[in-house]
Parts: sequence; C-alpha cells; structure tokens
Amino acid sequence: MDIQKVGVIGAGQMGNGIAHVMALAGYDVLMTDISQQALDGALNMIQGNLARQASRGKISDDDVTAAMSRIQTTLSLPDLGSTDLVIEAATERETVKQAIFEDLQPHLQPHTILTSNTSSISITRLASRTDRPERFMGFHFMNPVPVMQLVELIRGIATDEPTFKACKAVVDRLGKTAASAEDFPAFIVNRILMPMINEAVYTLYEGVGSVQSIDQSMKLGANHPMGPLELADFIGLDTCLAIMNVLHDGLADTKYRPCPLLTKYVEAGWLGRKTQRGFYDYRGDVPVPTR
Ligand code: NAD
Repeated sequence: MDIQKVGVIGAGQMGNGIAHVMALAGYDVLMTDISQQALDGALNMIQGNLARQASRGKISDDDVTAAMSRIQTTLSLPDLGSTDLVIEAATERETVKQAIFEDLQPHLQPHTILTSNTSSISITRLASRTDRPERFMGFHFMNPVPVMQLVELIRGIATDEPTFKACKAVVDRLGKTAASAEDFPAFIVNRILMPMINEAVYTLYEGVGSVQSIDQSMKLGANHPMGPLELADFIGLDTCLAIMNVLHDGLADTKYRPCPLLTKYVEAGWLGRKTQRGFYDYRGDVPVPTR
C-alpha cells in the first residue's frame, strides 16, 4: 500500500510532533483541530523545532522549507478524507476519539488506514466502532516525537497484515524503530514505566527516601538518564494517574493501585512541569523538591 498523504487529528504536543516528523520524511501532511489557535500554535512550534534542528546541523535550511511546505492545516475534519493514513492524536478521552472516527468515516476512501496515538484506550474497542476494524491500529509515538526513537505499533484483534506492514513501512521511512505490541492496557512502554514511577511515589509516600534521594538513586544506581519523579513531572502527573487507573481497571490486579500521594498531587493541581509544580517546584531558577 502506497502512503503519500497523512492526516493528523489534534494539533497538541503530540500532533505537532507527528506532523513535523512526517513532513520531514517527505509525506504530505494535512493537520486538523477544533481550534484555529491550536493549528497556528502547532505550525509555529514545528517551524521553531525544525529551525533548532537546522541550527544544530542535523538538517539543512532547504529541509526546513520543504517540510513546512508539505504541511497544510484545516478546521474541517472531512478534508482528511483525501489522505491515505490518518493518525488521531486528539485529547485522551474515548468519547472524543469515537466521535472523530464516526464523523470522519463517511468521507474516507476505502483504502485509508485509521490509527490512534492513544496511550491507553483499547484499540480493539475503538476499531470495532468503525467501518474498517481490519484497517485500524494503534500508532503510538513517544514524547517528544522528533527526539524519541520508538513507535509502538498495536494490532487490534481484527487488524490485518497489510495494514500492519504499511504502518511499519511508515515507521521505517521516519528512521524510527517500531515495537510490535498486543492490545492490552498501556501496551509495553507504559505497562513497565508507569508501575515503576508509581512505586517511586510509594517510596516517597512511605518515607523511604526524599524526592532528591529517590531520583538520585535511580540515576546513579540504575543509570537512568532522569529520576522517576523528575520524569513523572515531565510526563504530567494527571497522565501518570490516568494510565495507572487504566492498568488497575483493565488488569484488575492490586499491584497497579495508584499511590494515594500521586492522587493527592493531581487533586492539588500540581501536575508537574506544565503547571510549574509537581514533585519539584519549577517557579524559580532551579527546580526545588516539594517533599
Ligand atoms: P494535547 O492536549 O496537547 O492536544 C490535544 C489536541 O486535540 C488539542 O489541540 C485539542 O484542541 C485537540 N482536539 C480535541 N478534540 C478534538 C476534536 N474533536 N477534533 C480535533 N482535535 C481535537 O494532547 P497530547 O499530549 O498531544 O495527546 C494527544 C494524544 O496522544 C492522546 O491520545 C494521548 O494519550 C497521546 N499521547 C500523549 C503522550 C504525551 O506524553 N503527552 C505520549 C504518547 C501519546
């Protein structure tokens, strides 16, 4: 299957990264959002990130111009009917994603592959509500998209082999590496990463170590580039909690019980870097541990 034109739904932090890497790899990109401000913000962000790559010598100025010329935006979802591959990267809410696929479906060409960048929602369930469960799969990028090497490809129960192969070929053309995952809660990376972060929060909650000693221990003792609490702040504590809840509900095992301290931080609105406060306080020149 020859994929030339890629539709991206949602122009948030993931959507703009996906449009960036797709355009740089030579795909024509049509990006949509419900907000013109989000679309304008995404184009600015992509331009800035491409310029940074060029200033570091990773790509040329011509690459920047060519990539930007391949990205079009639209507020009209049906316009994505002309694309060969759709990657949905809208807000992580099942009703939102379901409505998007329902609205888009009548406008699609028969061969178009539908995918979702969801971190936690069942691919099989999303697929079952479309007219093409065999041409539906999970296309899960890591954040930040231009930097992270991995893409998880998740087959729903009905996904056919040509669909998987077409998506794998796209990942190869991006110069990234695909990991194939089955459709179980949180797939591979978050299934392993989130319980580790949750355990770090329990370690803090039980007073085994301070924020600083926990992060330092994992950096120097396990050679992790970031400590687990620092990483949780980067991902967003609400996102971490939501994924733990998906694991807890989906696998019905108490080992995935979200730490009450993680819930408390989310209740306080201390969501990490995006709200300037989480396990660290980012309002000053240097991050200061909050416990
Ligand atoms: P975000 O909040 O930054 O962006 C979401 C965008 O979707 C917003 O611009 C919003 O206006 C738009 N949107 C909402 N409803 C829409 C609709 N009906 N049609 C079109 N656009 C709509 O979110 P994000 O962090 O970019 O996450 C997007 C998806 O990627 C989620 O499914 C999330 O789970 C997944 N994901 C996130 C990360 C991460 O680290 N943030 C990593 C991997 C996957």
